[in-house]
Amino acid sequence: MSALDRDQSVRESYARDASGLWRVPDAVARPGGAHEVATLLREANADGTAVTAAGSQTSTTGASITDRGIVLSTRAMARILDVDRATMTARVEPGVLLGDLQRTLAADGLAFAPDPTSDQECTVGGAIACNASGPRSLRYGATRAHVRALTVVLASGETIEVRRPQVEKNAVGYPPVQDLVDWFVGSEGTLGVIVAADLALMPRPARELGLAIPLPDESRALAFVVAARESGDVRPRCLEYFDAESFAIARTGAGDATWGATAGAMVYAEETTDGEDPPLDAWLALAERFGAHDGDVRAYEGDAAIREARRLRHAVPATMHERVAPFLAAGGRRVSTDWAVPYRRAAEAVAMARRHAADANVAPGIVYGHLGNGHPHQNFVAHDPAEVRAFEAVVERTVRDVLAMGGTVSAEHGIGKLKARWLPLQLSPTQVAMLRAIKRELDPRGILAPGNILGSAA
Ligand SMILES: Cc1cc2nc3c(=O)[nH]c(=O)nc-3n(C[C@H](O)[C@H](O)[C@H](O)COP(=O)(O)OP(=O)(O)OC[C@H]3O[C@@H](n4cnc5c(N)ncnc54)[C@H](O)[C@@H]3O)c2cc1C
Repeated sequence: MSALDRDQSVRESYARDASGLWRVPDAVARPGGAHEVATLLREANADGTAVTAAGSQTSTTGASITDRGIVLSTRAMARILDVDRATMTARVEPGVLLGDLQRTLAADGLAFAPDPTSDQECTVGGAIACNASGPRSLRYGATRAHVRALTVVLASGETIEVRRPQVEKNAVGYPPVQDLVDWFVGSEGTLGVIVAADLALMPRPARELGLAIPLPDESRALAFVVAARESGDVRPRCLEYFDAESFAIARTGAGDATWGATAGAMVYAEETTDGEDPPLDAWLALAERFGAHDGDVRAYEGDAAIREARRLRHAVPATMHERVAPFLAAGGRRVSTDWAVPYRRAAEAVAMARRHAADANVAPGIVYGHLGNGHPHQNFVAHDPAEVRAFEAVVERTVRDVLAMGGTVSAEHGIGKLKARWLPLQLSPTQVAMLRAIKRELDPRGILAPGNILGSAA
């Protein structure tokens, strides 16, 4: 088989992602181009060897690690091939870091909208394969909306090009077969390896304002989020929530222990304009209605300041990651939720999630994230396998209630290996059968990313 590295230390360096799981692959491949990927998959398919694609391995669900077969790292395929201003499209290889792409485009006054909090670490291929979203998905939607075409190597080694339909109307066949780009966005490496992508670009807004708004408590902060989303006076690009503990992490990151000292929560919002002054007064008036003090509100204007604000947001999952690191060797890990509900029901869902933790007598965890989209993350630090099981039992009870509220098990991190057992809670047997049928058609020998989405029985 084409170039494989079987060195133990190399294999172990691809054995961990942000899930906290540990899976050592049999070999690692680091192809430098699409042709090498095609050769590798053709050979792997012929002898039934499993292949799991990996970008930066920031997956929180174990999707990029495996102890079955080969990890195929895309990091050596990291060229920005073209930026076309006329069509507002960039063509890139999958291993390009999202942050590098965003910096390159910014120099030209352009932007790629998806902005997962991990954007400085994660790859474009990983973001597409997970249909990643981020704070600004509140306005721009998830990655899916910004992919125009993909070049994909299938399990057989065949390379195909899939492109969004050019027509505005289409009455041929069932919707799932009308646009094949959608098959691969969010497929978590199970249907093919993305070797190039055409991405839709947008102009950068002329002015950007970030506002960090401490509020008295969780219920007023979550009511403020709904009001800001529905108000006609402000137009939030993102509405990110920090509970008391995550605000404490952000405060430490900001190096100011006295900031919002009496607040029990914080909301970070962004607003953009075409050049006119952002509606700061309208934001402050709205925030005051929910108990905020003007003096506590921090404003971030301009590129460097907004980047600084994003670092505060990133500090929350990064700190949770650090807190759990000492317990990984003993089988502990971060248990993190990714469920979402219709945004107006988010306060009810967060209260319910906290109640389940209290009823089970476990540490309450922290709650933060994309509440503007009804999408919090609740994070628990499990010190050992017994605590992992206890927290997961709480999460499962929460997920059942979330689904009854019209929610979803995963809004952005995907299913991977960790959440596969909850798939049947959300999807009907017919829907699961459809997933299996597509998988069988494109990957009949089941070599691609085994265990992801459909679980180990896939
Ligand atoms: C601190 C932190 C913050 C995060 N914040 C967010 C957030 O705000 N929003 C969000 O959506 N996610 C977030 N994540 C999760 C994760 O960063 C994203 O899902 C990210 O897009 C994964 O990219 P990656 O390059 O690390 O992919 P990996 O973790 O390497 O892989 C993820 C999945 O994509 C598949 N894959 C990778 N490359 C390809 C390819 N070329 N072809 C086919 N399949 C491929 C893998 O097989 C795997 O299934 C966060 C993670 C961390 C650690």
